[in-house]
Amino acid sequence: MTDIKSLPLLSLQDALASDEKPYRARQIYEWLHKHLVESFSEMTNLSRATRTYLVENFELPVFTLEKMQESAFDGTRKYLFALADGNLIESVLMKYKHGNSVCISSQAGCRMGCTFCASAIGGLNRSLTAGEMLEQIYAITRNTNERVSNVVVMGIGEPLDNYDELLNFIKILSDYNGLNLSQRNITVSTCGLSPEIYRLADEMLQINLAISLHATTDEKRLKLMPVTKAYPLDELMKACKYYFKKTGRRITFEYSLINNINDSKEDAMELKDLILRFRKQERLLPCHINLIPLNPVKEHDFCASPAKNVLDFKNILEKYQINVTIRREMGSDIDGACGQLRRTNA
Ligand code: SAH
Repeated sequence: MTDIKSLPLLSLQDALASDEKPYRARQIYEWLHKHLVESFSEMTNLSRATRTYLVENFELPVFTLEKMQESAFDGTRKYLFALADGNLIESVLMKYKHGNSVCISSQAGCRMGCTFCASAIGGLNRSLTAGEMLEQIYAITRNTNERVSNVVVMGIGEPLDNYDELLNFIKILSDYNGLNLSQRNITVSTCGLSPEIYRLADEMLQINLAISLHATTDEKRLKLMPVTKAYPLDELMKACKYYFKKTGRRITFEYSLINNINDSKEDAMELKDLILRFRKQERLLPCHINLIPLNPVKEHDFCASPAKNVLDFKNILEKYQINVTIRREMGSDIDGACGQLRRTNA
């Protein structure tokens, strides 16, 4: 049966029986995506016959909250959800002055194999449906009773390895018949699947794209990110340029700093060169570097860079007028590396 929450409005209209009134699809869609109901029985303005029809023809998957941890420092909450089939995923709520931000998972597991990342251990179980990506935001909204104003697809999984569902997710999340979240407040982070970056550019969305770079040469990047073999840095940077040309959106490069692996002054200078080369060709292509101090994963040997290296790294980039921030640590008292809560509870 079709997961009803994964259908954009037009697809829902098509999927409903032709004898339904045209406005019926919109009513159902609003129950799902505006009022965030968890069952068909809550759709009180539908006839009993219509509700029975929905129960018999569609699935409305719900999650079980397995665990929730809240930071005593800043209110960050980490949620461990079980999907209907028992797969576990994580989502994080971060409270900022400018509003609530939610980090969601796009897959149960991941097949990209990044060697420092907890989500890669155990490989991919399956991709999430658009409805399961949305439900993480809806469940957190119901849990807090507060509106979510920013969404980052930076949890477990590689979003561009789940392209079609990701696209439906973005469409529904930014639809004014639903939560109506501005696409400018949605960020998708990828390890660098170049063909999908081109595809995404052609969709002409207004979302933010973040690229996980983490190294400045193919040789070094290959040791951290096997995806480099299929899409070397040169090719990835070309795809990024295309994305910028098509959408005009500033790109963020993420760089997780790992002690003695990619955090030396030479690494910073190489990153500077890479970015300046990129900008020169594109006449000041706006981009931004987000430095992430590594969150050590117990299954791997990598350690976080000492604070001094992180600051030195940042200073070198700033000396060359490169826009750079160090990711603020939210919920440091509850925060295992992304994907770890799921592993310790599997
Ligand atoms: N598959 C997507 C989303 C992954 S998670 C991607 O690769 O971008 C979001 C970011 O956190 C990525 O940049 C990822 O490389 C990084 N990351 C993963 N594990 C980490 C860890 N243990 N410490 C620091 N950053 C990590």
